[in-house]
Amino acid sequence: MVGKLLRIGVLALQGDFAEHIAMLRQLGVEAVEVRLAEQLASLDGLIMPGGESTTFGKLATDFGLIEPLREFGRQKPIWGTCAGAIFLSKDAHRPQPLLGLMDITVERNAFGRQVASFEVDLDVPALKAVSDEDLPFHAIFIRAPLIESVGEGVEVLARLEDGRIVAAQQGRLLATSFHPELTGDPRFHQYFLRLVDNPT
Ligand code: GLN
Repeated sequence: MVGKLLRIGVLALQGDFAEHIAMLRQLGVEAVEVRLAEQLASLDGLIMPGGESTTFGKLATDFGLIEPLREFGRQKPIWGTCAGAIFLSKDAHRPQPLLGLMDITVERNAFGRQVASFEVDLDVPALKAVSDEDLPFHAIFIRAPLIESVGEGVEVLARLEDGRIVAAQQGRLLATSFHPELTGDPRFHQYFLRLVDNPT
């Protein structure tokens, strides 16, 4: 499905990076765990997984990764899922280190305690780019953030039924509130690989 062999990194400071790696390998691309700045140079794209965004921020600061990640995102595709999407954003309304690459504002833990985790079928028209089947995408939300607002040049890819935004794209940057790495449906990963293969 992809021409050349792509090399995709998954930020492996904390969180569910193993699930992303497994999905990428299933799709036939080279997938590597990334913990050091010098590993970024050989990558075509990077995924930042779910986990705890404050922990990402702390560890990335300790490991000197913040600036190298920003530099990477100015040139190559990055996809953040859940905590990774928060880390990619420019504002999470809290004093925590963020990459600030994507012009989105997020609200962390937006669904409260009672419904902290839930699953829902989403309509994601953009996925038609990688699949002929027009099926909804089954999305798992775990203490998920909402994408509260998006700046100019940011495309909304998916909304909940009430209109709230849960997936967005700004050129080569992709953010999803939910976890496509947990459902076995490869379409979001294929969509990201397509971005990596055809950089904007
Ligand atoms: N609640 C976490 C945060 O605020 C995100 C949860 C997740 O990645 N599943 O960073």
